[in-house]
Amino acid sequence: MNDLKKNVRYVKNVGPKRAEKLNKLNIHSVEDLIFFFPRSYEDRTTIKSIKEYENNETLNCVVTIKTVPTISNLRNNLKLLKVIATDGDSDISLIWFNQTYLKNQIKVGEKYFCRGKIAKNKYEIQIQNPEISPYTNASSFINILPVYPLTDGLSNKEMINIIKNCLEEYLIYVDDILPDELRNHYNLMNKRSAIKALHFPNNMAELEKARKTLAYEELLVLQLTMSNIKIKDKTDKGINFIRHDKLNLFIESLPFELTKSQKDVVNEILDDMACEKQMNRLVQGDVGSGKTVISAIAMFNAVLNGYQATMMAPTEILALQHYETLTSLFSKIEIKIALLTSSTNKTEKEEILKNLALGEIDILIGTHSIIQENVLFKKLGLVVTDEQHRFGVNQRMKLAAKGNSPDILVMTATPIPRSLALILYGDLDISTIKELPPGRQKIETFVMSTDKEDEVFNFIIKQIENGHQVYIVCPLIESNNSDNLNSAESVYHKLNGKFGEKYICGLIHGKLSQKEKEKVMGDFKNGMIKILVSTTVIEVGVNVANANTMVIYNADRFGLSQLHQLRGRVGRSSHKSYCILLNDNFSKIARERMRVLQSTNDGFEISEKDLYLRGPGEFFGTKQHGIPQLKIANLFRDINILKVAQDDAKYILSENKLIFDSKYTLLKNKVDELIYNMDNEIILN
Ligand code: ADP
Ligand code: MG
Repeated sequence: MNDLKKNVRYVKNVGPKRAEKLNKLNIHSVEDLIFFFPRSYEDRTTIKSIKEYENNETLNCVVTIKTVPTISNLRNNLKLLKVIATDGDSDISLIWFNQTYLKNQIKVGEKYFCRGKIAKNKYEIQIQNPEISPYTNASSFINILPVYPLTDGLSNKEMINIIKNCLEEYLIYVDDILPDELRNHYNLMNKRSAIKALHFPNNMAELEKARKTLAYEELLVLQLTMSNIKIKDKTDKGINFIRHDKLNLFIESLPFELTKSQKDVVNEILDDMACEKQMNRLVQGDVGSGKTVISAIAMFNAVLNGYQATMMAPTEILALQHYETLTSLFSKIEIKIALLTSSTNKTEKEEILKNLALGEIDILIGTHSIIQENVLFKKLGLVVTDEQHRFGVNQRMKLAAKGNSPDILVMTATPIPRSLALILYGDLDISTIKELPPGRQKIETFVMSTDKEDEVFNFIIKQIENGHQVYIVCPLIESNNSDNLNSAESVYHKLNGKFGEKYICGLIHGKLSQKEKEKVMGDFKNGMIKILVSTTVIEVGVNVANANTMVIYNADRFGLSQLHQLRGRVGRSSHKSYCILLNDNFSKIARERMRVLQSTNDGFEISEKDLYLRGPGEFFGTKQHGIPQLKIANLFRDINILKVAQDDAKYILSENKLIFDSKYTLLKNKVDELIYNMDNEIILN
C-alpha cells in the first residue's frame, strides 16, 4: 500500500485514541496529516532583554535560573511554584500555579527559553504560567512556532509532536510532481523542503518561499484540471443561429419593455449565437434584474432555428417556477416545453424522454436530473444553467456534452471575483445587467432582536391586512437541542397558533416531497397562503410579486450574499417592501454585517463586503463554486501566482507535454486524480 494513504493512527505517537481526534479535523491518512498546515505562526525570532519589554507585553527571552524552585501553599489547594531567573541584566520571577511537577524539571544554572506575558509590580517583574523549554542550542530551537487548528483534547504541543514524527517517517514518500525545469525557472524549493518549512520554518523568508512553492504547484494543478475538463467538451466551432424575425415580435409582445441593460445583454447573446464560434457566456445580474426573460429569448431563438434548448436550475422549486414562467411567456406560441426533476413520476418521465429523443419537446427545464445519462436530445443547440454558482463545473460540462457543441449560457446573481472567474471559466465572456426594472423600490431593511418578535408579528399582520404576503425564513427545519436556533417547524406552529384561524400559514422545506412543495408554492402564489414559513429552499430565484415582507430568524447564521439573495424574494414589484433581520448576536462583526445589509441593496457591493468581513478563506471555504478546496493558495493574495500558473498550464497543454513528456507524468497523475474526485463529488441540491 502507498505509505501516504496509510491510516493516520500508525504515525508514531498517534494510536487509535488520538486518531479519532484527528479525524475530527478531517485528518484520516498520513497524507492528510502531512498537508495539515498551521493556521498561523508565532514569531519568536525577536528575543529581547527583559528590560526592553513593557508591562503586559508578551516576552520572548533566554534566561538562566538563579534560585532553587520553591513551592508554597496558597488558599484552596492552590500551590505556587516560583523561581528567580535572569537574562544577565535584569531578574524576573517565574510563577506557576498548580504545576508543581515542573519543580524537578527546572535546574539552577541552566538556560531556558521563556515566553509569557509580563506583569510588573512594585517589587518585581513577573511572568505567570510562562512557557519554558530548555535552551540547549539555538538551532534545535523552534524560533517560529506553528499554531495548528485544534480540537478538544488535542493541544498544539501534541500536534507539533505528532507532525514532527510524521514528517520524519513519511516525508520521503512525498514526490516532487513539478518537473525540474519549472522549479528551477521560478526558483522554487523542492516539495519536501517546502512542506517541512511550512510546518517548521527557520525564518519568515523561508516560510514565504515555501508557501509560494506549494501555492504555485496547487494552482498549476487546479488550472490544468479545469482546462482538461473544459477541453473534453469544447471545440471552437459552434452552431450558426441566425437572429430570427419572429424574435422581435416575441420581444415586443412581452408584458414589459426590456431595460436598456437587458437589451444590451440580449444583443450580446444573439451576436454570440450567430457567430461561428461556440458561445460560452456568463450573464451576471443582481437578484430581480430580469435574467429569466433573457434566457427565454435565447432559448426561443434556438428553437426558431430548429434546435432544442435546455435549462438547468439548482432546486425543484426554481425549476418548476421557470417552467411556469416560460409556459406563460410562450402561451401564444406553438412551442413544447417540459419539466423534468427527480420527482417527476415514472410514466411521465418515460414520455418526456421519448419525446425529447424524437425532437417533439423544444425546451426542457429541470434540475440536475437532466444531466442523467438516459436523457437524450435529438438536436440540442443551447444549454442554459441558472444560478450557476450552485453547480459544479462538471455538471455544466456534462449538460453541454448532450449536444454537439451547443452554445452555453450561464446565469448568476452572485458576482464572481475576477480571479475565480478566470479559473472557472477561462475564456468565458461576461455580460452584466447593470440596472433593475423600473419602479423597483429599495427594500427597507430593519435589524431587531428576537425579544421584539411580537412587534414584528404586528407588523406582518398589518402588511397582510393591506393585501400582501409574507415570507418567514429560519435556519433549520426542525429544532435540535444542541443549537439555540429557531426552526421552521416551531416558528410555523407559533404563527399558526396565533394567526392561523384568520390567515393561512404554510410551511416549506427540503424534506417535503416535490408534490408537497408544489402544492405549498402554488397556494402561496395564488395568494391563499398569507404567511410562508421556510428554510433557505426559497433562496434562489423564487418570484412571487405580491409578497412584500420577509422576516429572517437568526440572521447572523447566514452569509451576507445569501441574505441578499433571500431578501431578493421581496421587492419584486413596485410595492414598498420590507426585510426584518432578527439578530441576537451582538458581536462587532455580526453587527457590522447587519449594517451592511441595511445600508445597501447592491449585490455587488454586498459581495465585496462579505469577502472583506469573512475573509477569503471562508468565502471560498464552501464548495459553492464546485472547485476543489485549496489548501495553501489564496485566490486573492496569490493572484499573481495564479496568472503565472495559468500561462504555464496553457503552454503545457498546447505542447501536449502532459501526455507525451515523461517529466510531466507525475503532474498528469495528480490532475487525473483530481478530475476523478470531482466526478465523484456528491451533487448538492
Ligand atoms: P432574476 O434576475 O433574479 O432571475 P427574474 O428573471 O425572476 O429575476 O425577474 C424578476 C421579475 O422582474 C419578474 O417578475 C419579471 O417578470 C420581472 N421583469 C423582468 N424584466 C422586466 C422589465 N424589463 N420590466 C419589468 N419587469 C421585469
Ligand atoms: Mg432568476
